[in-house]
Amino acid sequence: MDNFAALIAEMEEYGRANHVPIINEKGMPVLLEVVRDRRPHRVLEIGTAIGYSGLLIANNAADDVEIDTLELSEERAAVARAYIDRSMYKDRIKIHVGDAGENILKLTGKYDFVFIDAAKGQYPDYFRKIYPLLTEDAMVLADNVLFRGYVRGDVECPRRFRTIVKRLREYIALVSENNEFETVIREDGDGLAVSRRLPRENNR
Ligand code: SAH
Ligand code: MG
Repeated sequence: MDNFAALIAEMEEYGRANHVPIINEKGMPVLLEVVRDRRPHRVLEIGTAIGYSGLLIANNAADDVEIDTLELSEERAAVARAYIDRSMYKDRIKIHVGDAGENILKLTGKYDFVFIDAAKGQYPDYFRKIYPLLTEDAMVLADNVLFRGYVRGDVECPRRFRTIVKRLREYIALVSENNEFETVIREDGDGLAVSRRLPRENNR
């Protein structure tokens, strides 16, 4: 096993032991497939956790990739920083600690790939805030959009999750009804919304 694979395996073990909700083994291949297909140069990740998905994105993106990743928890950001510093991507990933809804507004420049994976009740807000930062051919991926089967009603939703589920439905409607994007809901893992911004002439 090479160093990077060993680091990733160590992070998976840390995630399991500490109940960190890193992207699961069924969702991860979808993330990698889209990143490899797109080879993004400038990535925004909303929800760093311990840096697991960020490192996987870095490893599959363009060689010159730069990633801004947003995380609320100082403790998790510190763990992420330590892992990232052990990789060859240490200078390519910048962690912004604080509320993502606030920190998005401080970002400048354009992103060709956005991975939304933080507070599920905030996904519609995140989408509205990242919209002005997207390149014309950007991809936006959102994890956990089917949230344990609650979103499509396959599994009855406990009361405490009703607001989250409502907002996830709102997110799916928001991206699906936006003609600038073509959105596919992948059922792998906890559900991923893959939204590809279309060239202008395709917009209806
Ligand atoms: N993308 C990671 C997992 C992220 S888990 C991976 O797959 O490896 C979701 C993360 O979002 C948690 O670490 C949580 O602390 C963070 N989060 C929750 N609310 C947030 C907020 N308002 N702003 C920024 N991060 C937030
Ligand atoms: Mg997730």
